[in-house]
Amino acid sequence: MKKSLFILSILFFSLLTADVKTIAAGQPLSGVKVAVDAGHGGWDPGAVGPGGLTEQEVNLRVAQALRNCLQEYGGATVKMTRTNNSYVSLSSRATQANSWGADRFISVHHNGSTNPAINGTAVYSYPGGSWKSHHLRDQVQKRLVQTTGLRNLGGQTANFYVVRRTSMPAILTEASFITNPGEEKRLQDPGYTWREAYHIYLGLVDHIKQVGK
Ligand SMILES: [Zn+2]
Repeated sequence: MKKSLFILSILFFSLLTADVKTIAAGQPLSGVKVAVDAGHGGWDPGAVGPGGLTEQEVNLRVAQALRNCLQEYGGATVKMTRTNNSYVSLSSRATQANSWGADRFISVHHNGSTNPAINGTAVYSYPGGSWKSHHLRDQVQKRLVQTTGLRNLGGQTANFYVVRRTSMPAILTEASFITNPGEEKRLQDPGYTWREAYHIYLGLVDHIKQVGK
């Protein structure tokens, strides 16, 4: 009698586990492989703010938050091209995404200017990229301006290596200018950079809902 109860409990818990898996399969990015690329790193700090905050550091913080959103809320599978402050070549970043077979590639950057007054939000795709890459760019742009509240510099195209040499729809985000003193202050707040990541995530979800994988 006790033994059969034990077997019944096991059956019951297997059913519960199966249910959890079914729910996970209903997540918006289930089955989608996303390569997340934190720009710069190592000897290459990227743009540097007037107070010394480096782009490589902010990019990594946003990229890690983006990975968490993609995995936990989206159910996506994520590969990061770098996970610490080390130098990774541009060709390695593209090769990692291509050989892994990523469905989407998102490179996280922050802009720089010699004019500290300049600020604004832009997302880039490759001019010769697929229509899906431009569509993804526009969805992420729409979401990013909602959270930064900055001047909308629009969806743009640029010949950046990582969007040119990746074989899946690829974008590069420049949510704001780290060289702007007020913006540098905001970028020091992990809550602000988390919201930035979350809005990149929301843009990707909007995109996948409309065009599929
Ligand atoms: Zn950069």
